Amino acid sequence: MTIYSHSRLSAFETCPLQYRLRYVDKIKIDESETIEAFMGSRVHETLEKLYKDLRLSKPNSLDELLSFYNDVWVKNYSDDIKIVKQGYAPGNYKDTGAKCISEYYARYQPFNDGKTLGIEQMIAIDIEGYKLRGFIDRLSSSRDGVYEIHDYKTSQYLPQQSHFDSDRQLALYQIGVQEMFGDVKEVDLIWHYLVFDREIKSKRQPHDLAELRSGIVKLIETIERAEKENDFEAEESGLCDWCDYQSLCPKRMHLVRTGQMPLNKYLEDPGVLLVNRYVEKSMEKKKLIDNIDAELELLKDAIVAYAKREGVEIIRGNDKKLRVKIEEKPHFPAKEETEREQLDAIIKKAGKWEEVSDLNVHALSKVLTGWSPELIGKIREFQKMQESCRIYISNLKERE
Ligand code: SF4
Repeated sequence: MTIYSHSRLSAFETCPLQYRLRYVDKIKIDESETIEAFMGSRVHETLEKLYKDLRLSKPNSLDELLSFYNDVWVKNYSDDIKIVKQGYAPGNYKDTGAKCISEYYARYQPFNDGKTLGIEQMIAIDIEGYKLRGFIDRLSSSRDGVYEIHDYKTSQYLPQQSHFDSDRQLALYQIGVQEMFGDVKEVDLIWHYLVFDREIKSKRQPHDLAELRSGIVKLIETIERAEKENDFEAEESGLCDWCDYQSLCPKRMHLVRTGQMPLNKYLEDPGVLLVNRYVEKSMEKKKLIDNIDAELELLKDAIVAYAKREGVEIIRGNDKKLRVKIEEKPHFPAKEETEREQLDAIIKKAGKWEEVSDLNVHALSKVLTGWSPELIGKIREFQKMQESCRIYISNLKERE
């Protein structure tokens, strides 16, 4: 039976194809970690040591912790670690991690704000027969029946409170904690955004958890249906740049492959050649159409002028004739015209906005009937008569 996790569910939500490659096909491509993930792991290990030692009555000084952090950094670091962001060196990340630890230490020492019940605590969750599993960075209890689920983040981005109030991961762990302990009265979900030295809290009510459960059931059903039908869409997003499967993804593989080619090979690539040719021809077509459109506009002006001068409505050609229709039509300012804002304001003030809320200026003249003469007068100030000229082509009849 599949055991789901928050990250497994998120992978499907982010991109079903990425999910398939990672969890169904189990393809391992690029094992190398990003520097952000590497730094995060070292900071987590250091905080893990802090609380494990405290449990055995062994407090660490900040210097001891930083020396531990330095040791695990050096021991685990390798040149395979990816630095995606341009202009940053490993030292920048290492210093950031050390700053996270120092600020955390200063904020929480002597670390007596609750009893630590678990570090990297495995939590099993059962939702309507579906099995899920997660690991809580630190589980603690501040008083009887009051639990705290702590999560350490070393992200460079600090989300808004609304993100935490709708976060699925820790809420899911809350369900697990409630299943694990019989005396749960309250659970605080706590995120430590270490780069910003910020602690963010959120709570979930029973109805939030009920909604979460049904959302998870629906999501797992969708995943299992996709697996059954082998239907996994590739969904592009800003996260694609970090995706390990770009070289297997139809939306990215050509870009990746050609991006790594030497120039001579790149210029001979059949895909590159086809695209270049297609773009060239499309541009030519557009230019041609633009030229023809411009020429037609000039001809139309000349025909209208001719019709007015000669007082004719139908003009003969070789085997076709043209009908020229010239009329005056009311015109109200369109959305992009400067007077439009004033017109909208008058209609709103008169309480008539609902009637024309999707204001179609061409239809406005029709709905005016029934509005007060004063309002109609104000609106009419925006109305201008515009000449409309249309030309219709038709076949000449035999006797014409
Ligand atoms: S590159 Fe983007 S679209 Fe392709 S599998 Fe990865 S996340 Fe999905």
